[in-house]
Amino acid sequence: MILKINEIKSSFRYFRPETLEEATDFLMRRGSESKILAGGTDLLVAIRSGDLRARYVVDVSRLDELRKVTVDREKLTIGSALTFSEIIENPIVQEFAPVLVRACSRVGSLQIRNTGTLGGNVGNASPAADSIPAMMIHDARVLLTNAESERDESLGSFIVGPYKTNLATGFLISGFSLKIWPEGFRFAYNRIARRRCLAISRVGAAAMAVLDENGKVTRMRLSLSSVSPQPVRMKIAEECLVGQIPDSRLILEASQAVTQEMVHLSGERPSFVYKKPAVQGLTTKTLEEIFFDREEF
Ligand SMILES: Cc1cc2nc3c(=O)[nH]c(=O)nc-3n(C[C@H](O)[C@H](O)[C@H](O)COP(=O)(O)OP(=O)(O)OC[C@H]3O[C@@H](n4cnc5c(N)ncnc54)[C@H](O)[C@@H]3O)c2cc1C
Repeated sequence: MILKINEIKSSFRYFRPETLEEATDFLMRRGSESKILAGGTDLLVAIRSGDLRARYVVDVSRLDELRKVTVDREKLTIGSALTFSEIIENPIVQEFAPVLVRACSRVGSLQIRNTGTLGGNVGNASPAADSIPAMMIHDARVLLTNAESERDESLGSFIVGPYKTNLATGFLISGFSLKIWPEGFRFAYNRIARRRCLAISRVGAAAMAVLDENGKVTRMRLSLSSVSPQPVRMKIAEECLVGQIPDSRLILEASQAVTQEMVHLSGERPSFVYKKPAVQGLTTKTLEEIFFDREEF
Protein backbone atom coordinates (compact mmCIF):
# COMPACT_ATOMS: atom_id res chain seq x y z
CA MET A 1 0.00 0.00 0.00
CA ILE A 2 1.33 3.47 -0.82
CA LEU A 3 0.16 6.29 1.39
CA LYS A 4 0.07 9.67 -0.33
CA ILE A 5 -1.69 12.24 1.69
CA ASN A 6 -1.76 15.85 0.56
CA GLU A 7 -0.02 17.33 3.54
CA ILE A 8 2.57 14.54 3.75
CA LYS A 9 5.51 15.91 1.81
CA SER A 10 7.13 12.55 1.23
CA SER A 11 5.44 9.35 0.17
CA PHE A 12 6.38 5.94 1.45
CA ARG A 13 5.40 2.33 1.26
CA TYR A 14 3.62 1.17 4.37
CA PHE A 15 4.30 -2.37 5.57
CA ARG A 16 2.63 -4.01 8.56
CA PRO A 17 4.25 -7.37 9.29
CA GLU A 18 2.17 -10.05 11.03
CA THR A 19 5.07 -11.50 13.04
CA LEU A 20 8.36 -10.37 14.51
CA GLU A 21 10.14 -12.70 12.10
CA GLU A 22 8.49 -11.01 9.12
CA ALA A 23 9.47 -7.62 10.52
CA THR A 24 13.12 -8.49 11.11
CA ASP A 25 13.39 -10.27 7.72
CA PHE A 26 12.12 -7.12 6.04
CA LEU A 27 14.50 -4.93 8.05
CA MET A 28 17.40 -7.21 7.16
CA ARG A 29 16.72 -6.66 3.45
CA ARG A 30 15.51 -3.07 3.44
CA GLY A 31 16.49 -1.67 6.84
CA SER A 32 18.63 1.15 5.42
CA GLU A 33 15.64 2.54 3.48
CA SER A 34 13.10 1.96 6.28
CA LYS A 35 11.77 3.69 9.34
CA ILE A 36 10.12 1.77 12.14
CA LEU A 37 6.65 3.01 13.09
CA ALA A 38 4.90 2.32 16.39
CA GLY A 39 2.32 4.90 17.48
CA GLY A 40 3.54 7.46 14.95
CA THR A 41 3.21 10.42 17.34
CA ASP A 42 6.81 11.47 16.64
CA LEU A 43 7.56 9.74 13.34
CA LEU A 44 4.53 10.89 11.36
CA VAL A 45 5.05 14.46 12.55
CA ALA A 46 8.65 14.32 11.24
CA ILE A 47 7.60 12.77 7.91
CA ARG A 48 4.73 15.19 7.47
CA SER A 49 6.98 18.18 8.02
CA GLY A 50 9.49 16.84 5.52
CA ASP A 51 12.22 16.55 8.19
CA LEU A 52 12.48 12.84 7.63
CA ARG A 53 12.25 10.69 4.56
CA ALA A 54 11.84 6.96 4.24
CA ARG A 55 11.07 4.64 1.38
CA TYR A 56 9.40 2.13 3.67
CA VAL A 57 7.60 2.51 6.95
CA VAL A 58 7.41 -0.70 8.95
CA ASP A 59 4.56 -0.71 11.45
CA VAL A 60 5.48 -2.83 14.49
CA SER A 61 2.66 -1.58 16.72
CA ARG A 62 0.59 -4.76 16.55
CA LEU A 63 3.29 -7.38 16.89
CA ASP A 64 2.30 -9.65 19.80
CA GLU A 65 5.97 -10.36 20.53
CA LEU A 66 6.50 -6.67 21.38
CA ARG A 67 3.41 -6.34 23.56
CA LYS A 68 4.20 -8.54 26.56
CA VAL A 69 5.02 -7.81 30.20
CA THR A 70 6.84 -10.50 32.18
CA VAL A 71 8.59 -10.63 35.52
CA ASP A 72 11.10 -12.94 37.17
CA ARG A 73 12.96 -12.61 40.47
CA GLU A 74 15.37 -9.98 39.20
CA LYS A 75 13.83 -8.19 36.29
CA LEU A 76 10.70 -6.83 34.76
CA THR A 77 10.50 -7.02 30.96
CA ILE A 78 8.21 -4.65 29.09
CA GLY A 79 7.49 -4.93 25.35
CA SER A 80 8.38 -1.91 23.26
CA ALA A 81 5.01 -1.64 21.49
CA LEU A 82 2.98 -1.14 24.66
CA THR A 83 1.38 2.28 24.79
CA PHE A 84 1.71 4.58 27.79
CA SER A 85 -1.92 3.81 28.69
CA GLU A 86 -1.33 0.07 28.54
CA ILE A 87 1.67 0.47 30.84
CA ILE A 88 -0.30 2.63 33.26
CA GLU A 89 -3.03 -0.02 33.44
CA ASN A 90 -0.75 -3.05 33.69
CA PRO A 91 -0.88 -4.58 37.21
CA ILE A 92 2.62 -6.09 36.94
CA VAL A 93 4.20 -2.75 36.00
CA GLN A 94 2.12 -1.08 38.72
CA GLU A 95 3.59 -3.47 41.29
CA PHE A 96 7.23 -3.57 40.21
CA ALA A 97 7.83 -0.22 38.49
CA PRO A 98 5.28 2.26 39.89
CA VAL A 99 7.64 5.12 39.07
CA LEU A 100 7.34 4.24 35.37
CA VAL A 101 3.55 4.18 35.71
CA ARG A 102 3.70 7.64 37.29
CA ALA A 103 5.99 8.96 34.51
CA CYS A 104 3.76 7.52 31.77
CA SER A 105 0.68 9.02 33.37
CA ARG A 106 2.30 12.47 33.11
CA VAL A 107 2.73 12.19 29.32
CA GLY A 108 0.96 14.72 27.04
CA SER A 109 -2.74 14.09 26.63
CA LEU A 110 -4.98 11.01 26.72
CA GLN A 111 -4.69 10.66 22.93
CA ILE A 112 -0.90 10.64 23.13
CA ARG A 113 -0.93 8.17 26.03
CA ASN A 114 -3.27 5.91 24.06
CA THR A 115 -1.08 5.98 20.96
CA GLY A 116 2.54 6.68 21.94
CA THR A 117 4.65 3.68 22.93
CA LEU A 118 7.57 3.07 25.24
CA GLY A 119 9.70 1.90 22.29
CA GLY A 120 8.86 5.09 20.37
CA ASN A 121 9.68 7.26 23.38
CA VAL A 122 13.17 5.75 23.56
CA GLY A 123 13.55 5.43 19.76
CA ASN A 124 12.87 9.15 19.39
CA ALA A 125 15.44 9.85 22.13
CA SER A 126 14.15 13.27 23.09
CA PRO A 127 16.15 14.58 26.08
CA ALA A 128 12.77 15.45 27.65
CA ALA A 129 11.16 12.00 27.21
CA ASP A 130 9.21 11.16 30.36
CA SER A 131 9.81 7.40 30.45
CA ILE A 132 13.60 7.65 30.29
CA PRO A 133 14.49 8.89 33.82
CA ALA A 134 11.98 6.42 35.28
CA MET A 135 13.68 3.57 33.43
CA MET A 136 17.19 4.86 34.22
CA ILE A 137 16.57 4.47 37.95
CA HIS A 138 15.68 0.82 37.28
CA ASP A 139 19.04 0.36 35.47
CA ALA A 140 17.08 -0.39 32.30
CA ARG A 141 18.54 -2.30 29.40
CA VAL A 142 17.26 -1.97 25.84
CA LEU A 143 16.44 -5.31 24.22
CA LEU A 144 17.35 -5.38 20.54
CA THR A 145 16.45 -7.95 17.91
CA ASN A 146 17.36 -8.52 14.30
CA ALA A 147 16.77 -11.46 11.97
CA GLU A 148 19.70 -13.40 13.38
CA SER A 149 20.29 -12.40 16.96
CA GLU A 150 19.18 -10.69 20.12
CA ARG A 151 21.27 -8.44 22.31
CA ASP A 152 20.84 -5.86 25.01
CA GLU A 153 22.47 -2.61 25.92
CA SER A 154 22.15 -0.16 28.80
CA LEU A 155 19.64 2.61 28.14
CA GLY A 156 22.27 5.22 29.00
CA SER A 157 24.62 4.08 26.26
CA PHE A 158 21.89 3.28 23.70
CA ILE A 159 20.95 6.96 23.55
CA VAL A 160 24.05 8.68 22.24
CA GLY A 161 22.75 12.26 22.18
CA PRO A 162 19.62 14.34 21.71
CA TYR A 163 17.37 12.50 19.20
CA LYS A 164 20.15 10.00 18.43
CA THR A 165 20.40 6.33 19.28
CA ASN A 166 22.89 3.76 18.16
CA LEU A 167 20.19 1.44 16.79
CA ALA A 168 22.00 -0.57 14.12
CA THR A 169 20.40 -1.08 10.71
CA GLY A 170 18.24 -4.19 10.66
CA PHE A 171 17.56 -4.10 14.41
CA LEU A 172 14.46 -3.05 16.26
CA ILE A 173 13.79 -2.46 19.95
CA SER A 174 11.83 -5.43 21.21
CA GLY A 175 11.54 -4.26 24.81
CA PHE A 176 13.20 -3.14 27.99
CA SER A 177 14.36 -5.01 31.05
CA LEU A 178 14.23 -3.19 34.38
CA LYS A 179 15.92 -4.36 37.59
CA ILE A 180 13.32 -4.82 40.25
CA TRP A 181 13.67 -3.73 43.86
CA PRO A 182 12.51 -5.61 46.94
CA GLU A 183 9.30 -4.39 48.54
CA GLY A 184 9.29 -1.26 50.65
CA PHE A 185 10.93 1.27 48.33
CA ARG A 186 9.69 4.83 48.04
CA PHE A 187 9.40 6.54 44.66
CA ALA A 188 8.44 9.78 42.94
CA TYR A 189 8.28 11.23 39.44
CA ASN A 190 7.66 14.90 38.86
CA ARG A 191 8.10 17.20 35.93
CA ILE A 192 7.99 20.82 34.95
CA ALA A 193 6.29 21.52 31.63
CA ARG A 194 5.35 24.70 29.83
CA ARG A 195 1.73 23.80 30.38
CA ARG A 196 0.31 20.95 32.45
CA CYS A 197 -1.07 19.11 29.41
CA LEU A 198 -0.21 18.80 25.74
CA ALA A 199 3.35 19.84 26.38
CA ILE A 200 6.56 17.92 26.31
CA SER A 201 8.12 18.29 29.72
CA ARG A 202 11.15 20.51 29.96
CA VAL A 203 12.58 18.70 32.95
CA GLY A 204 11.49 15.49 34.68
CA ALA A 205 12.87 13.91 37.85
CA ALA A 206 12.54 10.25 38.89
CA ALA A 207 13.70 8.96 42.26
CA MET A 208 13.57 5.75 44.29
CA ALA A 209 14.90 5.13 47.79
CA VAL A 210 14.97 2.56 50.55
CA LEU A 211 15.24 3.65 54.19
CA ASP A 212 16.21 1.42 57.12
CA GLU A 213 14.26 1.25 60.39
CA ASN A 214 16.13 4.34 61.68
CA GLY A 215 15.23 6.39 58.61
CA LYS A 216 18.72 6.13 57.11
CA VAL A 217 18.91 5.90 53.30
CA THR A 218 20.29 2.50 52.30
CA ARG A 219 19.64 2.72 48.59
CA MET A 220 19.05 5.71 46.34
CA ARG A 221 18.47 6.31 42.64
CA LEU A 222 17.92 9.67 40.97
CA SER A 223 17.71 10.59 37.30
CA LEU A 224 16.56 13.75 35.55
CA SER A 225 15.63 14.39 31.92
CA SER A 226 16.88 17.38 29.91
CA VAL A 227 19.99 17.93 32.04
CA SER A 228 22.52 16.09 29.90
CA PRO A 229 23.03 15.02 26.28
CA GLN A 230 22.70 11.33 27.25
CA PRO A 231 20.46 9.91 29.98
CA VAL A 232 22.35 9.61 33.27
CA ARG A 233 21.82 8.88 36.91
CA MET A 234 22.77 11.68 39.28
CA LYS A 235 25.34 9.62 41.15
CA ILE A 236 26.93 12.44 43.16
CA ALA A 237 23.53 13.39 44.57
CA GLU A 238 22.74 9.72 45.23
CA GLU A 239 26.02 9.30 47.14
CA CYS A 240 25.33 12.43 49.14
CA LEU A 241 22.11 10.83 50.47
CA VAL A 242 23.12 7.21 51.02
CA GLY A 243 24.00 6.42 54.66
CA GLN A 244 22.29 9.61 55.92
CA ILE A 245 18.98 10.45 57.56
CA PRO A 246 17.61 13.03 55.13
CA ASP A 247 16.75 16.49 56.38
CA SER A 248 16.18 19.79 54.55
CA ARG A 249 19.88 20.68 54.57
CA LEU A 250 20.87 17.36 53.00
CA ILE A 251 18.13 17.60 50.37
CA LEU A 252 19.34 21.08 49.44
CA GLU A 253 22.90 19.74 49.16
CA ALA A 254 21.73 16.89 46.90
CA SER A 255 19.68 19.28 44.74
CA GLN A 256 22.67 21.61 44.36
CA ALA A 257 24.81 18.62 43.38
CA VAL A 258 22.32 17.92 40.57
CA THR A 259 22.62 21.43 39.11
CA GLN A 260 26.43 21.25 39.34
CA GLU A 261 26.36 17.91 37.56
CA MET A 262 24.10 19.40 34.86
CA VAL A 263 26.63 22.18 34.18
CA HIS A 264 29.47 19.66 34.24
CA LEU A 265 27.70 17.41 31.68
CA SER A 266 26.23 20.07 29.38
CA GLY A 267 28.51 23.11 29.85
CA GLU A 268 27.17 26.54 30.89
CA ARG A 269 24.32 27.71 28.64
CA PRO A 270 22.21 30.88 28.48
CA SER A 271 19.07 28.82 29.29
CA PHE A 272 20.61 27.77 32.60
CA VAL A 273 19.61 31.11 34.13
CA TYR A 274 16.10 29.65 34.17
CA LYS A 275 17.03 26.02 34.28
CA LYS A 276 19.30 25.89 37.34
CA PRO A 277 16.67 27.07 39.85
CA ALA A 278 14.03 24.97 38.06
CA VAL A 279 16.14 21.80 38.26
CA GLN A 280 17.12 22.49 41.85
CA GLY A 281 13.51 23.16 42.86
CA LEU A 282 12.21 20.08 41.04
CA THR A 283 14.85 17.86 42.67
CA THR A 284 14.06 19.29 46.11
CA LYS A 285 10.32 18.71 45.67
CA THR A 286 10.89 15.17 44.42
CA LEU A 287 13.20 14.25 47.31
CA GLU A 288 10.84 15.88 49.83
CA GLU A 289 7.99 13.80 48.41
CA ILE A 290 10.02 10.65 48.98
CA PHE A 291 11.54 11.44 52.38
CA PHE A 292 8.95 13.71 54.02
CA ASP A 293 5.85 12.13 52.45
CA ARG A 294 5.02 15.45 50.82
CA GLU A 295 2.32 15.54 48.16
CA GLU A 296 3.03 14.95 44.49
CA PHE A 297 4.42 18.12 42.89
C1 LIG B 1 1.08 16.63 21.28
C2 LIG B 1 2.21 15.77 21.74
C3 LIG B 1 2.48 15.69 23.10
C4 LIG B 1 3.54 14.87 23.55
N1 LIG B 1 3.78 14.83 24.90
C5 LIG B 1 4.80 14.07 25.35
C6 LIG B 1 5.09 14.04 26.74
O1 LIG B 1 4.43 14.67 27.56
N2 LIG B 1 6.14 13.27 27.14
C7 LIG B 1 6.88 12.54 26.27
O2 LIG B 1 7.82 11.86 26.71
N3 LIG B 1 6.64 12.57 24.94
C8 LIG B 1 5.63 13.31 24.46
N4 LIG B 1 5.36 13.37 23.11
C9 LIG B 1 6.24 12.63 22.17
C10 LIG B 1 5.74 11.22 21.74
O3 LIG B 1 4.37 11.06 21.90
C11 LIG B 1 6.49 10.12 22.50
O4 LIG B 1 7.89 10.24 22.26
C12 LIG B 1 6.02 8.71 22.12
O5 LIG B 1 6.46 7.81 23.10
C13 LIG B 1 6.52 8.22 20.78
O6 LIG B 1 6.03 6.90 20.62
P1 LIG B 1 5.39 6.42 19.24
O7 LIG B 1 4.98 5.00 19.43
O8 LIG B 1 4.35 7.35 18.76
O9 LIG B 1 6.69 6.49 18.31
P2 LIG B 1 6.81 6.71 16.74
O10 LIG B 1 6.44 8.10 16.39
O11 LIG B 1 6.12 5.60 16.01
O12 LIG B 1 8.39 6.51 16.61
C14 LIG B 1 9.28 7.42 17.24
C15 LIG B 1 10.73 7.00 16.90
O13 LIG B 1 11.03 5.74 17.50
C16 LIG B 1 11.37 4.78 16.50
N5 LIG B 1 10.77 3.51 16.94
C17 LIG B 1 9.49 3.29 17.34
N6 LIG B 1 9.34 2.02 17.74
C18 LIG B 1 10.54 1.41 17.57
C19 LIG B 1 11.03 0.09 17.81
N7 LIG B 1 10.25 -0.88 18.31
N8 LIG B 1 12.32 -0.18 17.53
C20 LIG B 1 13.14 0.79 17.06
N9 LIG B 1 12.74 2.06 16.82
C21 LIG B 1 11.46 2.37 17.08
C22 LIG B 1 10.78 5.32 15.20
O14 LIG B 1 11.47 4.83 14.07
C23 LIG B 1 10.97 6.81 15.41
O15 LIG B 1 12.30 7.18 15.12
C24 LIG B 1 4.31 14.13 22.63
C25 LIG B 1 4.02 14.20 21.25
C26 LIG B 1 2.98 14.99 20.81
C27 LIG B 1 2.69 15.03 19.34
